[in-house]
Amino acid sequence: KDPILSLKNLNYVYNPGTAYEKHAMKEVSLDLYEGEFIGIIGHTGSGKSTLIQHLNGLIRATSGELSFRGRNIYEEGYPMKELRQQVGLVFQYPEHQLFEVDVLSDVCFGPKNQGLSQEECEKRAKEALQMVGFPESSYKASPFDLSGGQKRRVAIAGVLAMRPKVLVLDEPTAGLDPKGRDDILDQIAMLQKTTGITVILVSHSMEDVAKYVDRIIVMNKGEKIFDDTPKHVFRHYKRLEEVGLAAPEVTYIMHELREAGVPVSTDITLVGEA
Ligand code: ADP
Repeated sequence: KDPILSLKNLNYVYNPGTAYEKHAMKEVSLDLYEGEFIGIIGHTGSGKSTLIQHLNGLIRATSGELSFRGRNIYEEGYPMKELRQQVGLVFQYPEHQLFEVDVLSDVCFGPKNQGLSQEECEKRAKEALQMVGFPESSYKASPFDLSGGQKRRVAIAGVLAMRPKVLVLDEPTAGLDPKGRDDILDQIAMLQKTTGITVILVSHSMEDVAKYVDRIIVMNKGEKIFDDTPKHVFRHYKRLEEVGLAAPEVTYIMHELREAGVPVSTDITLVGEA
């Protein structure tokens, strides 16, 4: 099967030729397939955000090739607008971009901008809100009155209403409490399963991704250092610890236990060392 997104030797340099020059992405090659649930993890500053902003053409690689469904997006005349619709990007703290009077209007914003009828927009918005588990009773609420977790659902629904083939989420749990974090990740896992949409989940936390994804890409200093199933990636816990990923040995053990069918909570305390 052909990949939906294919990256070949991508490099990205911020502020080239200045004192602030930063080679933020180095020779990254990567194939992403339809229906995959992928985690991109790495310490802060490892290049995760830079990488994902390439996926919908928001930033253009300094060198390398990026194809969406076999077509190089850097070729002349490539329909970037279409790519942006097909690859939906949900930024960190997306609720900062909510601004309409009520939830439904907010989620309608994208489809409306595409010139769809009010009826079609609402249909898509409702479908998207359902996908993120947002309660119908609050469709007319002001986005500003919602809880942190609900605001985030609305923001994700806003991207889903565009019916993307790929959904990219940059740290969707940032700033949420543990309960809100689990809820939103469970919801994302469920929508991924039921719709078969390709989901790329960016996180700096092993625990966030450990439980859900099929495949983990580990970034360090702009380079891809691992690209494998969680099981295989977690085996390298010493190396992961070196690159600043939180408690990888514990995560590894938890993963092994889960695979063996032992119920494990993410909220664990290690005893013995103290
Ligand atoms: P992550 O998402 O993993 O935290 P980023 O992709 O945001 O990493 O950053 C990768 C590197 O690029 C970091 O060293 C960061 O300081 C640098 N960087 C990110 N954005 C910019 C920018 N707009 N200008 C200059 N450097 C940047």
